[in-house]
Amino acid sequence: MKVIYTDNNATTKVAGEVIEEMMPYFAELYGNPSSMHTFGDEVGKRVKQARQQVADLINADPEEIVFTSCGTESDNAAINAAIKAFPKKKHLITSAVEHPAIKNLYSYLEKTQGYTVTFVPVDKKGRLNTAVLYESMSENTAIISLMWANNETGVIFPIEEVAQRANERGILFHTDAVQATGKIDIDVKKTGVDMLSLSGHKIHGPKGIGVLYVKKGFKFTPYLIGGHQEGGRRGGTENTAFIIGLGTACELAKQNLEIMNTRVRELRDYLQSQLLEKISCTSVNGVQDNRLPNTLSIGFDAVEGESILLLLDRDGICASSGSACTSGSLDPSHVLMAMEVPFKSAHGTIRFSLSHYNTKDEMDLIVKNLVPTIEKLRAMSPFWKDGKVV
Ligand SMILES: *Cc1c(COP(=O)(O)O)cnc(C)c1O
Repeated sequence: MKVIYTDNNATTKVAGEVIEEMMPYFAELYGNPSSMHTFGDEVGKRVKQARQQVADLINADPEEIVFTSCGTESDNAAINAAIKAFPKKKHLITSAVEHPAIKNLYSYLEKTQGYTVTFVPVDKKGRLNTAVLYESMSENTAIISLMWANNETGVIFPIEEVAQRANERGILFHTDAVQATGKIDIDVKKTGVDMLSLSGHKIHGPKGIGVLYVKKGFKFTPYLIGGHQEGGRRGGTENTAFIIGLGTACELAKQNLEIMNTRVRELRDYLQSQLLEKISCTSVNGVQDNRLPNTLSIGFDAVEGESILLLLDRDGICASSGSACTSGSLDPSHVLMAMEVPFKSAHGTIRFSLSHYNTKDEMDLIVKNLVPTIEKLRAMSPFWKDGKVV
């Protein structure tokens, strides 16, 4: 059976071009880029090119790019560096809707390391309450970390505005741009962020490779202490094949940015309007305008997201639900809870996240599956009677 893959915010297909670029570096070109011999140095040159490709995607200088093992490591390394830079500052700011890589790290620091954390709330449409954020900034704040765009709803935060406020107050600013990269334009110079995380497998690169952008001039303390690699900012022999794959993925992401914001956005809007039109008591989570072009988080009243997923799966359709991914939990995710999405639609929330590999035919097949699926599930639901929620 053919798979219809609409779970691109979870991970993406590795682009054919990326695999092709990586293969030689697993096989014959296995040299260590730090070696003195030509054999290793050839690999070193290719790694340098990849660093430039990454830098070009976000308008950074290549020396500001630190390769890591994943987005999670980049996030942890950024917060760790802030804490080491300002050991006396014991306050941290983030939002209530972050990825676990930040959310759980902040909670850990709060519980075990004596930090006070402000989790800035969002409104019902997923927009950040910047007034609360600005109010909470103080002399004691070590860092503000805000995701550029939300992985569940796609809602985009005002990164440039907050980064500027943080700069004015002399507070470090980090952004988790794992979902934003390849979907919207990212310019670290224009926005003035101090650190930024991105991840390979969310942009058609391999899993297990990430990047931390570190602005020139910031005295960065490494998270992995070891060799001189990455300018002394991250020890460990370079993951050459993956770095080269990520470089290629970044170049492709730059080329595909326009398709993402035209064709993919149109597909997403088409799927959204079809579902809203054909299925009653359905609502979109998050703002319409300031949202990633590929993401649709949509709630169907009075049904269970997990049941929908199972029935979609029978037709080979891959999507996500809006529940907390923590094993076995059927509670709505912390993101939907922070948005105060009503119980009846939070439980029936499905996230479709598209890529340029998707087609209009696939959107039609999803609609064709979902219309009878939701009808069937509602017919069995104790919360549904006579065409409405009870
Ligand atoms: C996927 C994701 C991460 C984690 O990236 P990994 O490379 O899987 O560790 C972090 N933040 C956001 C917003 C993500 O979507």
